[in-house]
Amino acid sequence: MLPEFKNFCLADFSISENRKKMEDAIKQVEEELGKEYPIIIGGEKIETEKKIESINPSVKKEVVGRVSRANRELAERAIKTAYEKFQEWRFTSPDERARYLLKAAEIMRQEVFYLSALMVVEEGKNWIEAYADTAEAIDFLEFYAREMMRYGKEQPVVPYPGEENSLFYIPLGVVAVIPPWNFPCAILVGMTSAAIVTGNTVVLKPASSSPVIGYKFAEIMERVGLPDGVLNFLPGSGAEVGDTIVGHPLTRMVAFTGSRDVGLHINELAAKTQPGQRWIKRVIAEMGGKDTIIVDETADLDSAVNGIVASAYGFQGQKCSACSRLIIVKDVYDELLDRIIERVKEIKVGDVRDYDNYMGPVINEQAFNKIKEYIEIGKGEGRLMTGGGCDDSVGYFIEPTIIGDVDPMARISQEEIFGPVLAVIKAKDFDEALEIANNTEYGLTGGVYSTNRANLERARREFFVGNLYFNRKITGALVGVQPFGGFNMSGTDSKAGGSDYLLLFMQAKSVAERF
Ligand code: NAP
Ligand code: MG
Repeated sequence: MLPEFKNFCLADFSISENRKKMEDAIKQVEEELGKEYPIIIGGEKIETEKKIESINPSVKKEVVGRVSRANRELAERAIKTAYEKFQEWRFTSPDERARYLLKAAEIMRQEVFYLSALMVVEEGKNWIEAYADTAEAIDFLEFYAREMMRYGKEQPVVPYPGEENSLFYIPLGVVAVIPPWNFPCAILVGMTSAAIVTGNTVVLKPASSSPVIGYKFAEIMERVGLPDGVLNFLPGSGAEVGDTIVGHPLTRMVAFTGSRDVGLHINELAAKTQPGQRWIKRVIAEMGGKDTIIVDETADLDSAVNGIVASAYGFQGQKCSACSRLIIVKDVYDELLDRIIERVKEIKVGDVRDYDNYMGPVINEQAFNKIKEYIEIGKGEGRLMTGGGCDDSVGYFIEPTIIGDVDPMARISQEEIFGPVLAVIKAKDFDEALEIANNTEYGLTGGVYSTNRANLERARREFFVGNLYFNRKITGALVGVQPFGGFNMSGTDSKAGGSDYLLLFMQAKSVAERF
C-alpha cells in the first residue's frame, strides 16, 4: 500500500540553507557547461557530428550543452526499436511499470536542486519557477504511478448470469512524445511517464532549446533500470525528426504540447494513413493560449495586483497559462492600471542565477525578435504604459511591458505573444468584459477578480476556458488539484495531471467467458 498522493512542497528560499543549496547546485551546473550529450536508442548512446547547441539565454555566449542531433535515419531507427520493444513491454504488469516512476520520483527529489539549477541556466527560469518545474515533474511521476495501479485493477462491468465478464486496459504502441521548451522538465516528464506507465514505448523528441534537462530525465530512467528501448531519446529539429516520427506508420500515438501551428500541422500529418499503417493514430495536442483576467468594480484590488503581476510576468510571460490580456471594467480601470504599473516598475530583470532577479531573459533570439515586434505593433494599437525596452547584447532581455487602451480585436489582443507583454482593455461592464474574454480562438486559462456572486457564477458557466480561476493567479496549476488542458485552439483538453489522462494512452478490452 502506497501513501496517498501529495503535491511536492516548494522550497522556501528565504531560508539560507535552501539558498546555499541552490547556489552550490548552480556552481555544479556551471562546471558542466559545454558538455556533450548523446542520443539514446535502445540503450545505445549515439553521437553525431551535428549538434544542437543549448545556450544560457541570460548569457548567450555560454553553451550549456552540445547535444547530438538526430536525422531522419536515426528517427526511423528509434521508432523501429520502440516498436520491437513494445512487443515485450506491453505485457509487463501495471504495478511493475508504476514502480519505475516511483523510483524516478525519489531520485528527482534527491536531486531537486541540481535539476532546478540546470533550468535556471538552460532556460533562464528564476529559482522558484525552476524549482516548481521540477516539483511538478515529481508530482506527475507520483500521480501517474498511482493512477496506473488503479487502472490496472479489475474494472467494473455489469454482472451477467452464467458468464465471467471483465474489462481491462491495454497500451496502444509506440508513442511519439514532443514537448515544448517552456516546462522542459514537468511537461516532458509528464507526457513521457504517462506513456510508459500505461505500457507503451516512447520516442521522445525534446524541444531544441532545452535538450539537456530532457537528457537528464532519460538518464534517470536508465538509472532506475527501465529496460532499454522503452524510452528512446531523440533530440533533433522539429521539421526533420518531428515529421518523421509523427508520420511513421509504426507510430501509434502522438503526445504533443507546443504552439498552435505546430500542433495543427502534427494533427494533419498524423491523420494521413501511411502505407502499411494498421491503425488510426491518436493525437493529443495541447497548444497555445491568449489568457485573460477580468477585474470588476467589486474586486479586491490588492489581491488583483498580486495575481495579475504574477500571472503576466512569472517566467517572463512564457507560460501557456500566462495572463496576456487584462480586462478591467471602467469604474476601476485607471486606479488598477496605475497600481499595476507601479508594481511592474519594481520588477528586477537580469541573469536569474542571481536570486534577486525576478524576471530573466526570454528563451532565444527568435522569441526575442518576435516579442520585440509585438511590442512595436502594440505601440501602434494602444498606449505603452511601461516597459518596452529590449536588450540582447548579453542575453535576451525584455522589460515587463504594459500596453493600455487596447481594442479587443487588436492583434496584441488576439495573438499569442509568449513574452512579458500585457494588453489592457477597458470594458463598460462585466457583460462586455466576459464577451471580450471569449473573443479569441483560444480557451486555455482565464481568471476573474470579483466579489459579486452573480458575476462569478456567470463566469463559471460562460467563460469558455479549460482552467478557470477566481480571485487568484491563473498560472501554476497543481497536479491532481487542477487537471490542465484547454478548449478550442488551445488543444484537445487532455487534462494532464487528472484522473482521465492515462486513458488517453490506452484502449479497453472486454473479455467474456461462458462456463
Ligand atoms: P513549438 O515551437 O510548437 O514546439 C513544440 C515542440 O514541437 C518542440 O519540441 C519542437 O521542436 C517540435 N516541433 C516543431 N516543429 C515540428 C514538426 N513539424 N513536427 C513535430 N514536432 C515539431 O512550441 P514551443 O515554442 O516549444 O512552446 C511554446 C508553445 O507551447 C506556446 O504556444 C505555448 O502556449 C504552448 N504550450 C502549451 C501548453 C499547454 O498545456 N496547452 C503548455 C506549455 C506550452 P523544436 O524545438 O526542435 O522546434
Ligand atoms: Mg520553438
